[in-house]
Amino acid sequence: MIRTPIDRRRLLKGTMAALSAAVASPAVHAQTAGPRVVVIGGGFGGAACARALRKADPRLAVTLIEQNRTYTASPMSNSVIAGLRELTQQQFGYGRIEHSGVNLFFGETVRIDTQARKVLFGGSADLLTESYDRLVLSPGIDFRWNAIAGYDEAASKLIPHAYRGADQIALLRRQLESMEDGGTVVIAAPVNPARCPPAPYERASLIAHYLKTRKPRSKVIVLDAKDSFTMQKLFENAWKTLYPGMLEWVSVSSGGAPTSVDPKTRTIATDFDKYEAAVANVIPPQKAGRLADLAGVADRTGWCPVDPLTFESKLHPGIHVIGDAAIAGAMPRSASAATVQGRICAAAIAALFAGKTPAAPTLTSSCFSLIAPDYAISQRGTYRPVGDLYNESDPGITMSALDAAPAMRSREAKEAAAWFTDITTGVFG
Ligand SMILES: Cc1cc2nc3c(=O)[nH]c(=O)nc-3n(C[C@H](O)[C@H](O)[C@H](O)COP(=O)(O)OP(=O)(O)OC[C@H]3O[C@@H](n4cnc5c(N)ncnc54)[C@H](O)[C@@H]3O)c2cc1C
Repeated sequence: MIRTPIDRRRLLKGTMAALSAAVASPAVHAQTAGPRVVVIGGGFGGAACARALRKADPRLAVTLIEQNRTYTASPMSNSVIAGLRELTQQQFGYGRIEHSGVNLFFGETVRIDTQARKVLFGGSADLLTESYDRLVLSPGIDFRWNAIAGYDEAASKLIPHAYRGADQIALLRRQLESMEDGGTVVIAAPVNPARCPPAPYERASLIAHYLKTRKPRSKVIVLDAKDSFTMQKLFENAWKTLYPGMLEWVSVSSGGAPTSVDPKTRTIATDFDKYEAAVANVIPPQKAGRLADLAGVADRTGWCPVDPLTFESKLHPGIHVIGDAAIAGAMPRSASAATVQGRICAAAIAALFAGKTPAAPTLTSSCFSLIAPDYAISQRGTYRPVGDLYNESDPGITMSALDAAPAMRSREAKEAAAWFTDITTGVFG
């Protein structure tokens, strides 16, 4: 059954207990009379955008719809997998966002009626409706299940991807903990474009650190669907120094691309070989989160083309797409980028409602990769819109120096932790 907003208010008062899947937060703020913006997806992009919208113009009625009551952040999650951090340190609630005046609803969005400008969410028989003047989507990524034969959602319960969600991170950590010394951990790294390009190599590094300190007869093999990867020289130098003989990278040209997976035996086949893993981690090819399909804003690539000034969809006026789901040219798919895109998008929406022209933004993004607890490398970029996309702009991409001293690597590890605290406090705190 579909309910209108009027039904919803009655529902919330009368039958709260019966409403299991979609639950409005207890203290729903009074709607302002201003234009309505609905943001779907309370990750880095969506949460940053919802907050920034209220700040940009308090007359806007801003609603955030998120399917989970607790957000589990992926940055630093490789440290959780390697036993260097606890999962709870990755988890954030939405209380502060609600206190900033954002109307908050928990429930899965299951339909977007772009003609009527309505969103239906809840996931149970009782769907709730929210109307919008402008809609912002920040759904993150989805996986191309079965692009590697045999690797579907059911298989991910046995061989985790650990690229989204708390359960997956916890499962990979448990599997590593229960693995016997002498086993081989096989990580399958995806083709680009994908979420956080350095993350598979950070993961391989930190798993190697775990094995070196707890199960030293074991090893890690990275099977890659690519011939090169970001910050490759920095990673490879560190591997030679920290994990000699423990970590092997197999490029696509050397037969690294996985073609099929047998989840029961944890066997990963490539065109050249078969790898029997004691623990396997398959990170499949990706596309924009399913919401993008629901709204019809993804193109044939599976990602969402947007105007770089406003992040408004090129396929559907009135709908903005930010974060990993959007095509933003040279900008990497990162929490850093999603957060800054959320804020730029909010400023652009406020400008559009005020009849102004949004300013051309300069965006920066920084990405740290931990290779050992006291050893990190980083890549920072500055981007400006050129034509339809973001291009690198002065001072361009800067990376950690190849010959940096250990003290510098250790300082970058501290900066990585400080970056995580800053970004999560700014978005959720
Ligand atoms: C292992 C790993 C390490 C990483 N390390 C870093 C790092 O060091 N630095 C960095 O900057 N980035 C890092 N990233 C990348 C970063 O996590 C993502 O780029 C970022 O989370 C993207 O934000 P987003 O808002 O686009 O998507 P997400 O953060 O995924 O948020 C999407 C939200 O939408 C919600 N949602 C989806 N569909 C629906 C629906 N139908 N209804 C309601 N809600 C819905 C989801 O529940 C989720 O909360 C890492 C990623 C991984 C996997």
